[in-house]
Amino acid sequence: MKLVLRLSLASLLCIAANAFGQTYPNKPVVMIVPFAAGGPTDVLARTLALAMGKQLKQTIMVENVGGAGGNIGVLRTVKAAPDGYTVLVHHIGMSTSPALYRKMEYNPLTDLAYISLIADVPMTLIARQNFPPVNFKEFVTYLKSNKDKLSMAHAGLGAASQLCGLLLTSTLQTEVLTVPYTGTAPAMTSLLGGQVDFMCDQTTNTTGQIQNGKVKVYGVTTKTRVASLPNIPTLDEQGLKDFEVAVWHAVYAPKNTPRPIQDTLLKAVREALKDQDLKDTLAKLGTEPVAANRQTPEVLRDFLKAEVDKWGPIIKQADQYAD
Ligand code: ASP
Repeated sequence: MKLVLRLSLASLLCIAANAFGQTYPNKPVVMIVPFAAGGPTDVLARTLALAMGKQLKQTIMVENVGGAGGNIGVLRTVKAAPDGYTVLVHHIGMSTSPALYRKMEYNPLTDLAYISLIADVPMTLIARQNFPPVNFKEFVTYLKSNKDKLSMAHAGLGAASQLCGLLLTSTLQTEVLTVPYTGTAPAMTSLLGGQVDFMCDQTTNTTGQIQNGKVKVYGVTTKTRVASLPNIPTLDEQGLKDFEVAVWHAVYAPKNTPRPIQDTLLKAVREALKDQDLKDTLAKLGTEPVAANRQTPEVLRDFLKAEVDKWGPIIKQADQYAD
Protein backbone atom coordinates (compact mmCIF):
# COMPACT_ATOMS: atom_id res chain seq x y z
CA MET A 1 0.00 0.00 0.00
CA LYS A 2 2.80 2.36 1.00
CA LEU A 3 4.69 1.44 -2.17
CA VAL A 4 1.65 2.21 -4.33
CA LEU A 5 1.28 5.59 -2.62
CA ARG A 6 4.97 6.40 -3.16
CA LEU A 7 4.71 5.44 -6.84
CA SER A 8 1.65 7.59 -7.38
CA LEU A 9 3.31 10.53 -5.72
CA ALA A 10 6.35 10.06 -7.91
CA SER A 11 4.26 9.92 -11.05
CA LEU A 12 2.29 12.98 -9.96
CA LEU A 13 5.53 14.88 -9.50
CA CYS A 14 6.68 13.66 -12.88
CA ILE A 15 3.43 14.81 -14.57
CA ALA A 16 3.75 18.21 -12.88
CA ALA A 17 7.35 18.54 -14.03
CA ASN A 18 6.37 17.54 -17.55
CA ALA A 19 3.54 20.04 -17.60
CA PHE A 20 6.07 22.81 -17.04
CA GLY A 21 8.52 21.36 -19.52
CA GLN A 22 11.10 20.85 -16.76
CA THR A 23 12.01 17.33 -17.72
CA TYR A 24 11.57 17.93 -21.41
CA PRO A 25 12.87 16.19 -23.41
CA ASN A 26 12.77 12.82 -21.70
CA LYS A 27 12.71 10.78 -24.92
CA PRO A 28 14.13 11.25 -28.45
CA VAL A 29 12.79 14.16 -30.49
CA VAL A 30 11.80 13.57 -34.13
CA MET A 31 13.08 16.17 -36.60
CA ILE A 32 11.10 16.05 -39.83
CA VAL A 33 12.95 16.89 -43.05
CA PRO A 34 10.48 17.32 -45.90
CA PHE A 35 12.93 16.07 -48.55
CA ALA A 36 14.89 12.88 -49.27
CA ALA A 37 17.79 11.68 -47.10
CA GLY A 38 21.29 12.74 -48.14
CA GLY A 39 20.16 15.99 -49.80
CA PRO A 40 20.91 19.56 -48.78
CA THR A 41 18.03 20.12 -46.35
CA ASP A 42 18.77 16.76 -44.80
CA VAL A 43 22.49 17.53 -44.42
CA LEU A 44 21.76 20.86 -42.74
CA ALA A 45 19.10 19.31 -40.49
CA ARG A 46 21.32 16.40 -39.43
CA THR A 47 24.16 18.80 -38.59
CA LEU A 48 21.75 20.87 -36.50
CA ALA A 49 20.20 17.75 -34.92
CA LEU A 50 23.60 16.64 -33.69
CA ALA A 51 24.39 20.01 -32.11
CA MET A 52 20.87 20.43 -30.66
CA GLY A 53 21.05 16.92 -29.26
CA LYS A 54 24.16 17.94 -27.28
CA GLN A 55 22.22 20.85 -25.80
CA LEU A 56 19.04 18.92 -25.03
CA LYS A 57 20.97 15.84 -23.89
CA GLN A 58 18.66 13.76 -26.04
CA THR A 59 18.83 12.04 -29.40
CA ILE A 60 17.22 13.93 -32.24
CA MET A 61 16.12 11.49 -34.91
CA VAL A 62 15.77 12.82 -38.42
CA GLU A 63 12.80 11.49 -40.35
CA ASN A 64 12.67 12.19 -44.08
CA VAL A 65 9.13 12.84 -45.28
CA GLY A 66 9.59 13.93 -48.89
CA GLY A 67 7.11 14.80 -51.63
CA ALA A 68 5.13 17.73 -53.05
CA GLY A 69 8.04 20.15 -52.72
CA GLY A 70 8.10 19.74 -48.94
CA ASN A 71 4.35 19.99 -48.30
CA ILE A 72 3.89 16.40 -47.13
CA GLY A 73 6.49 16.79 -44.38
CA VAL A 74 5.02 20.13 -43.29
CA LEU A 75 1.55 18.60 -43.08
CA ARG A 76 2.91 15.74 -40.97
CA THR A 77 4.30 18.37 -38.56
CA VAL A 78 1.08 20.39 -38.52
CA LYS A 79 -0.86 17.24 -37.56
CA ALA A 80 1.69 15.96 -35.01
CA ALA A 81 1.06 16.12 -31.24
CA PRO A 82 2.18 19.56 -29.99
CA ASP A 83 4.30 18.04 -27.24
CA GLY A 84 7.81 19.07 -28.28
CA TYR A 85 8.69 15.67 -29.68
CA THR A 86 8.19 16.72 -33.29
CA VAL A 87 10.07 19.58 -34.92
CA LEU A 88 10.53 20.49 -38.58
CA VAL A 89 13.40 21.91 -40.61
CA HIS A 90 12.19 23.44 -43.86
CA HIS A 91 13.42 26.06 -46.28
CA ILE A 92 12.17 28.86 -48.54
CA GLY A 93 9.56 26.42 -49.88
CA MET A 94 7.44 27.21 -46.80
CA SER A 95 6.82 30.65 -48.32
CA THR A 96 6.29 29.67 -51.96
CA SER A 97 3.78 26.83 -51.50
CA PRO A 98 0.68 29.03 -50.95
CA ALA A 99 1.14 30.53 -54.42
CA LEU A 100 2.10 27.26 -56.09
CA TYR A 101 -0.52 24.87 -54.77
CA ARG A 102 -4.21 25.41 -55.47
CA LYS A 103 -5.17 23.10 -52.60
CA MET A 104 -3.19 23.85 -49.45
CA GLU A 105 -4.05 21.78 -46.40
CA TYR A 106 -2.28 24.14 -44.02
CA ASN A 107 -1.53 27.83 -43.74
CA PRO A 108 2.20 28.43 -43.21
CA LEU A 109 1.47 31.73 -41.45
CA THR A 110 -0.92 30.39 -38.81
CA ASP A 111 -0.61 26.63 -38.42
CA LEU A 112 2.84 26.23 -36.87
CA ALA A 113 4.96 27.36 -33.95
CA TYR A 114 7.89 29.42 -35.23
CA ILE A 115 11.21 28.66 -33.52
CA SER A 116 14.10 30.23 -35.44
CA LEU A 117 15.84 30.91 -38.72
CA ILE A 118 19.02 28.84 -39.02
CA ALA A 119 21.02 29.41 -42.23
CA ASP A 120 20.92 30.94 -45.72
CA VAL A 121 22.46 28.50 -48.18
CA PRO A 122 23.80 29.50 -51.63
CA MET A 123 22.89 27.48 -54.71
CA THR A 124 24.99 26.32 -57.63
CA LEU A 125 24.09 25.67 -61.25
CA ILE A 126 25.50 22.24 -62.06
CA ALA A 127 25.26 19.72 -64.90
CA ARG A 128 26.24 16.14 -65.65
CA GLN A 129 29.97 15.81 -66.11
CA ASN A 130 29.83 15.25 -69.88
CA PHE A 131 27.39 18.09 -70.57
CA PRO A 132 28.95 19.89 -73.56
CA PRO A 133 29.01 23.61 -72.53
CA VAL A 134 32.29 24.52 -70.82
CA ASN A 135 31.18 27.80 -69.24
CA PHE A 136 28.02 29.74 -68.42
CA LYS A 137 28.04 31.69 -71.69
CA GLU A 138 28.08 28.43 -73.66
CA PHE A 139 25.49 26.97 -71.29
CA VAL A 140 23.05 29.75 -72.20
CA THR A 141 23.53 29.30 -75.95
CA TYR A 142 23.34 25.51 -75.68
CA LEU A 143 20.21 25.66 -73.52
CA LYS A 144 18.42 27.97 -75.92
CA SER A 145 19.27 25.96 -79.02
CA ASN A 146 18.62 22.50 -77.51
CA LYS A 147 15.76 23.23 -75.14
CA ASP A 148 13.52 20.50 -76.58
CA LYS A 149 16.14 17.83 -75.82
CA LEU A 150 17.31 18.91 -72.36
CA SER A 151 16.00 18.11 -68.90
CA MET A 152 16.35 19.90 -65.59
CA ALA A 153 15.99 18.03 -62.29
CA HIS A 154 14.34 19.52 -59.20
CA ALA A 155 12.86 18.50 -55.87
CA GLY A 156 9.18 19.17 -56.67
CA LEU A 157 7.06 22.24 -57.19
CA GLY A 158 7.96 24.70 -54.45
CA ALA A 159 11.43 23.28 -53.84
CA ALA A 160 14.38 25.65 -53.98
CA SER A 161 15.78 23.80 -56.99
CA GLN A 162 12.51 24.29 -58.86
CA LEU A 163 12.34 27.96 -57.89
CA CYS A 164 15.94 28.61 -58.89
CA GLY A 165 15.48 26.72 -62.17
CA LEU A 166 12.31 28.65 -62.90
CA LEU A 167 14.03 31.97 -62.23
CA LEU A 168 16.92 30.92 -64.45
CA THR A 169 14.84 29.75 -67.42
CA SER A 170 12.44 32.69 -67.18
CA THR A 171 15.35 35.17 -66.96
CA LEU A 172 16.86 33.50 -70.03
CA GLN A 173 13.41 33.51 -71.66
CA THR A 174 13.42 29.83 -72.41
CA GLU A 175 11.69 26.67 -71.19
CA VAL A 176 12.91 23.18 -70.59
CA LEU A 177 11.54 19.79 -69.56
CA THR A 178 11.63 19.49 -65.77
CA VAL A 179 11.92 16.21 -63.83
CA PRO A 180 10.71 16.24 -60.19
CA TYR A 181 12.22 14.10 -57.43
CA THR A 182 11.47 13.79 -53.70
CA GLY A 183 14.67 15.70 -53.00
CA THR A 184 17.86 16.66 -54.77
CA ALA A 185 19.75 13.66 -53.33
CA PRO A 186 17.96 11.29 -55.74
CA ALA A 187 18.14 14.02 -58.40
CA MET A 188 21.92 14.12 -57.93
CA THR A 189 22.08 10.34 -58.41
CA SER A 190 20.31 10.76 -61.76
CA LEU A 191 22.59 13.65 -62.70
CA LEU A 192 25.70 11.63 -61.88
CA GLY A 193 24.26 8.75 -63.92
CA GLY A 194 23.61 11.10 -66.84
CA GLN A 195 19.82 10.57 -66.83
CA VAL A 196 19.13 14.32 -66.44
CA ASP A 197 21.18 17.21 -67.75
CA PHE A 198 21.35 19.95 -65.15
CA MET A 199 19.92 21.44 -61.95
CA CYS A 200 20.25 24.20 -59.40
CA ASP A 201 21.04 22.85 -55.95
CA GLN A 202 22.31 24.05 -52.59
CA THR A 203 26.02 23.98 -51.83
CA THR A 204 25.20 21.68 -48.91
CA ASN A 205 24.63 18.96 -51.53
CA THR A 206 26.89 20.01 -54.39
CA THR A 207 30.19 21.14 -52.81
CA GLY A 208 31.72 17.65 -52.59
CA GLN A 209 30.66 16.70 -56.13
CA ILE A 210 32.06 20.00 -57.47
CA GLN A 211 35.34 19.67 -55.57
CA ASN A 212 35.74 16.07 -56.76
CA GLY A 213 35.02 17.01 -60.35
CA LYS A 214 31.98 14.72 -60.55
CA VAL A 215 29.73 17.43 -61.97
CA LYS A 216 30.18 20.48 -64.17
CA VAL A 217 29.52 23.79 -62.45
CA TYR A 218 28.51 27.04 -64.17
CA GLY A 219 28.19 29.43 -61.25
CA VAL A 220 26.89 30.23 -57.80
CA THR A 221 23.58 32.00 -57.28
CA THR A 222 24.60 34.47 -54.59
CA LYS A 223 25.73 38.04 -55.21
CA THR A 224 29.22 37.27 -53.91
CA ARG A 225 31.37 34.19 -54.36
CA VAL A 226 31.11 31.34 -51.85
CA ALA A 227 34.14 31.03 -49.54
CA SER A 228 34.39 27.25 -49.90
CA LEU A 229 34.22 27.47 -53.73
CA PRO A 230 36.39 30.56 -54.37
CA ASN A 231 37.08 29.74 -58.03
CA ILE A 232 33.45 29.45 -59.03
CA PRO A 233 32.14 32.76 -60.39
CA THR A 234 28.69 34.06 -59.53
CA LEU A 235 26.01 34.01 -62.24
CA ASP A 236 25.69 37.76 -61.68
CA GLU A 237 29.34 38.40 -62.54
CA GLN A 238 28.89 36.27 -65.68
CA GLY A 239 26.21 38.57 -67.00
CA LEU A 240 22.99 37.37 -65.32
CA LYS A 241 22.55 40.70 -63.61
CA ASP A 242 20.74 40.75 -60.26
CA PHE A 243 20.23 36.99 -60.31
CA GLU A 244 20.28 36.04 -56.66
CA VAL A 245 18.98 33.00 -54.82
CA ALA A 246 19.92 32.06 -51.26
CA VAL A 247 17.87 29.39 -49.58
CA TRP A 248 16.80 30.34 -46.08
CA HIS A 249 16.04 27.54 -43.63
CA ALA A 250 14.20 27.52 -40.31
CA VAL A 251 12.99 25.34 -37.46
CA TYR A 252 9.29 24.97 -36.64
CA ALA A 253 7.14 22.93 -34.25
CA PRO A 254 3.43 22.07 -34.26
CA LYS A 255 1.20 25.00 -33.30
CA ASN A 256 0.19 24.87 -29.61
CA THR A 257 3.50 23.38 -28.54
CA PRO A 258 3.67 24.67 -24.94
CA ARG A 259 5.57 27.95 -24.61
CA PRO A 260 8.18 26.57 -22.14
CA ILE A 261 8.98 23.81 -24.65
CA GLN A 262 9.21 26.31 -27.52
CA ASP A 263 11.61 28.33 -25.34
CA THR A 264 13.71 25.22 -24.64
CA LEU A 265 13.85 24.45 -28.36
CA LEU A 266 14.84 28.03 -29.20
CA LYS A 267 17.59 27.99 -26.59
CA ALA A 268 18.86 24.67 -27.97
CA VAL A 269 18.86 26.04 -31.55
CA ARG A 270 20.67 29.21 -30.50
CA GLU A 271 23.32 27.28 -28.58
CA ALA A 272 23.64 24.73 -31.40
CA LEU A 273 24.31 27.51 -33.91
CA LYS A 274 27.30 28.55 -31.78
CA ASP A 275 28.70 24.99 -31.76
CA GLN A 276 32.15 24.91 -33.36
CA ASP A 277 31.63 21.48 -34.98
CA LEU A 278 28.42 22.73 -36.58
CA LYS A 279 30.12 25.91 -37.80
CA ASP A 280 33.04 23.95 -39.25
CA THR A 281 30.74 21.51 -41.05
CA LEU A 282 28.66 24.32 -42.51
CA ALA A 283 31.71 26.38 -43.52
CA LYS A 284 33.04 23.45 -45.55
CA LEU A 285 29.66 23.30 -47.29
CA GLY A 286 29.60 26.98 -48.16
CA THR A 287 27.32 28.36 -45.48
CA GLU A 288 27.12 29.65 -41.91
CA PRO A 289 24.46 30.18 -39.23
CA VAL A 290 22.28 33.32 -39.50
CA ALA A 291 23.29 36.23 -37.25
CA ALA A 292 22.18 35.90 -33.60
CA ASN A 293 19.69 38.77 -33.92
CA ARG A 294 17.83 36.74 -36.60
CA GLN A 295 17.53 33.70 -34.34
CA THR A 296 14.13 34.56 -32.87
CA PRO A 297 10.53 33.34 -33.45
CA GLU A 298 9.38 36.93 -34.14
CA VAL A 299 12.01 37.50 -36.83
CA LEU A 300 11.17 34.12 -38.42
CA ARG A 301 7.41 34.81 -38.45
CA ASP A 302 7.83 38.33 -39.91
CA PHE A 303 10.37 37.13 -42.45
CA LEU A 304 8.10 34.26 -43.51
CA LYS A 305 5.22 36.71 -44.02
CA ALA A 306 7.44 39.00 -46.10
CA GLU A 307 8.60 36.03 -48.21
CA VAL A 308 5.01 34.80 -48.78
CA ASP A 309 4.11 38.35 -49.94
CA LYS A 310 7.21 38.55 -52.14
CA TRP A 311 6.90 35.21 -53.93
CA GLY A 312 3.10 35.19 -54.44
CA PRO A 313 3.03 37.69 -57.33
CA ILE A 314 6.26 36.38 -58.92
CA ILE A 315 4.94 32.81 -59.03
CA LYS A 316 1.47 33.85 -60.21
CA GLN A 317 3.04 35.81 -63.03
CA ALA A 318 5.08 32.76 -64.04
CA ASP A 319 1.81 30.80 -64.09
CA GLN A 320 3.04 27.81 -62.09
CA TYR A 321 0.48 25.76 -60.26
CA ALA A 322 -0.09 22.29 -58.89
CA ASP A 323 -3.34 20.79 -57.61
N1 ASP B 1 17.57 21.01 -52.55
C1 ASP B 1 16.19 20.62 -52.46
C2 ASP B 1 15.35 21.72 -52.98
O1 ASP B 1 15.40 21.88 -54.13
C3 ASP B 1 15.71 20.13 -51.19
C4 ASP B 1 16.37 18.87 -50.74
O2 ASP B 1 16.43 17.87 -51.43
O3 ASP B 1 16.80 18.90 -49.61
O4 ASP B 1 14.64 22.39 -52.32
